[in-house]
Amino acid sequence: MNASAAHGLTVRGAVLDGVEVGLRAVDGTVVALGPSVTAEPGDEVIAGSGLALVAGLVNGHTHAAMTLFRGFGGDLPLMEWLESKIWPAEARLTDDDVYWGTRLACAEMIRTGTVRFWDMYWHPAAVARAAQDAGIRATVGLPLIDGMDPARSTKLRAEAIESLDELAVCGPRIGASFTPHGIYTVSEESLSWVAEESAVRQLPVHIHFLEVESEVTGCIERAGTRPGPYLDRLGLLTERTVLAHGCWMEEAEFELAAARGATVVTNPVSNLKLAVGRIFPYAVARHHRVAVGLGTDGASSNNGLDMLQDVKVFALLQKYAANDPAAVPAEEAWQVATGGLAPALGGAPLAVGAAADFLLVRVDDPEVAPGYLTDNLVYSAPGTVVDTTVVDGRVLMSGGVVPDADEVVAKAREAARRLGVL
Ligand SMILES: [Zn+2]
Repeated sequence: MNASAAHGLTVRGAVLDGVEVGLRAVDGTVVALGPSVTAEPGDEVIAGSGLALVAGLVNGHTHAAMTLFRGFGGDLPLMEWLESKIWPAEARLTDDDVYWGTRLACAEMIRTGTVRFWDMYWHPAAVARAAQDAGIRATVGLPLIDGMDPARSTKLRAEAIESLDELAVCGPRIGASFTPHGIYTVSEESLSWVAEESAVRQLPVHIHFLEVESEVTGCIERAGTRPGPYLDRLGLLTERTVLAHGCWMEEAEFELAAARGATVVTNPVSNLKLAVGRIFPYAVARHHRVAVGLGTDGASSNNGLDMLQDVKVFALLQKYAANDPAAVPAEEAWQVATGGLAPALGGAPLAVGAAADFLLVRVDDPEVAPGYLTDNLVYSAPGTVVDTTVVDGRVLMSGGVVPDADEVVAKAREAARRLGVL
């Protein structure tokens, strides 16, 4: 590539907050935004007529390659589903399977307006390659699960560090995080190791946290304390920490999370499907100013990765929990879905100087017409109202078509067949 040839991208005539504007990005950064923006010679130009400019969605917690298992063993009780379906199939996974499963997830996310996802899965180098090839941003997890036996984690720790080197060559859109599975599946010794490595390397820690009540009782039995103070004691509650779920957190744990600057990602659809027994206490979290983001969780427990479907469920569930239709207004729900209330998740605001990660939405689609775009994106739009997805100043989808989706679907189907899922 010629290093001196800057890549310019200009959107002309799109609507932002009711006003016709242009947006210009150079080499992945927004350099101009407003009514008088015009294209420079050599720019790639997008005609924005009939389209609204909105921020990209951030999926704060998923297991992307689990798209391979979408619908497999649906409606079974949790342990039966894991033991008879998911775990045996996962034991057969190869790099190639994870690559195509992740590509399938990326195709779905790009199609429905997600510009960045936080992943936790096996074969992280394959996840990273898939995200890199798809062009989407990803924070790829380095998995660690030792079944509470620290002796079993020696190999996994070494593999995690090796994977870091493989991820480092995947370019600036791909980051890494430590992803110990949870406090009930990873020993105290291994969690302490993660805390130290995360501090030394300044990498995030993304962990399942208080999805179900048994995590609370188990932690009190083993460690003599609730999970929040337990994580804090291990040095695992910091501004680099992303806690997935948090359904069973109590008020003091939200206060602690806020004091430490940790982020919580709520996954309302997965929580409903797996019947985890408690709605995430969002109002308590925000009362204490905890950073909150939104995730889909894996396609096995959702079963889609369309954030526009999940933001609706998030808002509805919180209104229901608060017994107040005015709770979580659409604008706030949209902020949660785009990472606006959780800076650590890496969402990009629509602003000069920010990353050029954004969407163009068809405002004339019946699902969002005639007006009130934010309300309609939250409550009525499927992800397919997204016309154009741009990440890092590159057009990953235009006209609602992800260019290589057909090939990706065929390859993912082949992988699912090989795994005995289909
Ligand atoms: Zn999960």
